[in-house]
Amino acid sequence: MISVRNLTKIYKLNKKDKSKNVVALNSINLDFPDKGLVFLLGKSGSGKSTLLNAIGGLDTFDDGEIIIKGKSSKNFKQSDFDSYRNTFIGFIFQEYNILEEFSVGKNLSLALELQGKKPHKSDVEKLLEEVDLKGYYKRKPNQLSGGQKQRVAIARALIKDPEIIMADEPTGALDSATGKQVMDTLKKLSKTKLVIIVSHDREFAEIYGDRIIELKDGQIIRDEVKHEVPSVKAAPGISFIDNKIIYIEKGQPISKENLMQINRILISRSSKSDTIISFDSKSNESVKKSAFITENGNCESFKTTEREDIKQTPCNPNDFKMIKSKLKFKDSLKIGSSSLKHKPIRLIFTILLSVIALTMFGIVNTFTNYNQAESTYQTIKSLDLKTLAINNYLDYNEYPLTQSLYNELKTENNNYTFYKVIGTGQGIDIENSNYTFNQATSYTTNRLASSGIMALTSQVQQDFNLQILYGNLPVDEIEVGSERHQNRQICITENLFNSIVLAYNDINSFNDIKDRTLSSYINNQWQYFKIVGVIKDNNINIDKYKTLTGESSSVNKNRAKYEELDVIMKYSLINMCYTTETVFNNLSLNYKPQHSNYTIFETNDNIYNYTIDFTNCNKIEDFVVENYIHYLKAGINPKTLSENQVIVPRDLLNSFFGISDSDILKELNKGITIKIATGYNYSKNHFLTLQVVGCHDYGGSLFVSNEIYKNSICGSDYVITKLKNNSTDKSLIKFCSNHNKNGSNLTIQFQSTPVLVTFGDLILTLSESLQYVAIGLAVFAGLMLMNFISTSIVYKKREIGVLRAIGARGKDVFSIFFCESMIICLINFLLSASASGIICSIINNVFATKLGITLTLLVFGLKQIMLIFGIAVIVAFVSSFIPVNKLARKNPIDSINNR
Ligand code: ADP
Ligand code: MG
Repeated sequence: MISVRNLTKIYKLNKKDKSKNVVALNSINLDFPDKGLVFLLGKSGSGKSTLLNAIGGLDTFDDGEIIIKGKSSKNFKQSDFDSYRNTFIGFIFQEYNILEEFSVGKNLSLALELQGKKPHKSDVEKLLEEVDLKGYYKRKPNQLSGGQKQRVAIARALIKDPEIIMADEPTGALDSATGKQVMDTLKKLSKTKLVIIVSHDREFAEIYGDRIIELKDGQIIRDEVKHEVPSVKAAPGISFIDNKIIYIEKGQPISKENLMQINRILISRSSKSDTIISFDSKSNESVKKSAFITENGNCESFKTTEREDIKQTPCNPNDFKMIKSKLKFKDSLKIGSSSLKHKPIRLIFTILLSVIALTMFGIVNTFTNYNQAESTYQTIKSLDLKTLAINNYLDYNEYPLTQSLYNELKTENNNYTFYKVIGTGQGIDIENSNYTFNQATSYTTNRLASSGIMALTSQVQQDFNLQILYGNLPVDEIEVGSERHQNRQICITENLFNSIVLAYNDINSFNDIKDRTLSSYINNQWQYFKIVGVIKDNNINIDKYKTLTGESSSVNKNRAKYEELDVIMKYSLINMCYTTETVFNNLSLNYKPQHSNYTIFETNDNIYNYTIDFTNCNKIEDFVVENYIHYLKAGINPKTLSENQVIVPRDLLNSFFGISDSDILKELNKGITIKIATGYNYSKNHFLTLQVVGCHDYGGSLFVSNEIYKNSICGSDYVITKLKNNSTDKSLIKFCSNHNKNGSNLTIQFQSTPVLVTFGDLILTLSESLQYVAIGLAVFAGLMLMNFISTSIVYKKREIGVLRAIGARGKDVFSIFFCESMIICLINFLLSASASGIICSIINNVFATKLGITLTLLVFGLKQIMLIFGIAVIVAFVSSFIPVNKLARKNPIDSINNR
């Protein structure tokens, strides 16, 4: 069934020097019979192993072909040789090469599984019985003797019921008794199979072999088959064997005639050799054996192999079928994980270092992926915040809320109600009382300032759960009184009330301030209100700030806490003043921002900052028009400007446009255009082009039309809304945060905003370099794993070779190491991901406890988990791919011999 033609293999030891080439096989031509025991004999180095490995597909060859069942190996790929071994051949090695991590039974069944067949335990046990290993199914290889191991190897070779068994010096490592046992077994097998044995033991070969092929320097020097020479009957009970032995049967007397016959032979032969006549049965046995005398008295002897001595059944190449190996995932996993046990310390260190690297990667990535919206949301959730203020904030500057921002906010978040608040930047004062500032008082109350004023509608009361503590809610009084406060009623909060009590010696209870006048700086002027009640605010608890005393200082270790409290006092309801809707609307209509550093932009690409303020032209007072506007374009009435007209400060024309006073009128009539950023946002597409129609000397205001004014300002400093404590809060926060990205600026204001914003800016600065650090760490983790897997491959090389020899494919080798890498990668991933998560929350905690504030800075989330997982997988894949690919391409025999 198998033949080789012109098989040639040359080992090129030196690429340049061809004289150093070793011709291990020199154009070998051989035909093997379907069954029988064939010995490959020869001195060491004659090429026996090379020939066997080449025929068995364990090794490549340089020229020639193998013909299996009529099919040539000419077009075989590596994987075809794998299948070829898997289908037809069972190997037995000198060093047994059974897989140590599997039991005897599994070693056997694995070989069958590689053929995609399901092994039955009973079949395996039967086979073990055949090689005299009954009851060894569960034994581990390290509990077996050499002979037993070799018999396991034989059984493994047999389980696939291959048509050819190949053995390279199978008895080489065994003592002679066990060696004989193994040979007997192989002899038995050769009755139905082709068994090819490499040996240098001529005696074994001649006793057991049906054919002996002797090699020398890669060439066949002898090829002989055993044949039986029949004995010639000389007389009853006496025969001549092969013309060299006289065989006399037991108890047979020799007649005179026979004696003469023998004598004649002796005379004719005596010159060539001595004659021994043996009587002893033991001596007879030895003689019989060494003379190859069979049971029936014939003699076996070797003669040159002729074509007709080789019995091959003709084959049709179309019937040729090979079985592709299938290594089960479970087995890949087992072999893969077994090597993990091999170097535990090294493994632990590898995992430790790569976990550290990956964990650091996770943390760094969390840092660089700092998402202010997410952190804001998490922080708000952990604070259980009930109200949220939103203002127009950019580059650490606050701007009044513009109409367009306000409209956008309202329409995009229509499940929230936004209440306008007008800031009351400066302190408040109780008229006709003595203010005595007390340094020692608590920071929560020591600054006598309200945060703002808003309308107290029933919806506000309900939304913010406001309860009247003393007095009444504010109402509109029809009669406007002659009092300074004009009966504009106001309620103050409890905290504000406490500040007042602390600040004024003569005020101790609500009765002391009831109906008295409170003054506050609103719309750039002092405004007066009648105090009618005190409101209890249940929205925020400031108890934890009660310990802060005196003034905040930059070196104070509680600085962050002071800062938090500052924001609370400014943007929560804790220091709010409440008035009626009518009074508030009136204030809103006359809104003037407290802030005045707005910026205008010049037309030609240069950008000028100019401190300026918008003024509604309807509101310009007559004395301003009369006394401060000296230059006007013809036909313009400053009190009724049209939509694209503006009156600017004269200084602007002088210094920025370089127009001298004498030229102003001329230039105005020619036409001067300016571009201004409306709504205080710096994005170029919000620019508005205006015609300068005049200039004034009354401060830094731009006098603009009603429409522009309205669009620039919505009549409040910020808005406040009730949080819902569910996921819609997140979308509100996201909306504001995304808004910031477009150059516009809706900022959420609550106690943690300063830290979150500062942190965000810090990350923005560091982010690029941190990114490189993260990549570096990921690469480091990769190199660690790569190093480990490479070493583990060196260790596994031999086993891989053995698996390949029994039929596993290169692909199976991959899956084994991929499993190993995957196990490491999974451990790595689980440890790194949890470590990163834990460390991030520790960092959050440290931030929070050191700063004394509640804060969720680092949000370690799904993204980081996925990233760590992805990196772990990629690293595992890359680190195993390169070395394993090399190994999978190796000749199995090179792997087995660890070359
Ligand atoms: P044998 O099995 O008969 O002892 P081998 O088949 O192992 O001999 O070797 C045949 C020849 O090929 C020897 O000269 C040996 O040195 C050479 N040879 C075998 N394997 C290699 C190898 N991997 N690299 C170089 N030369 C080799
Ligand atoms: Mg050899």
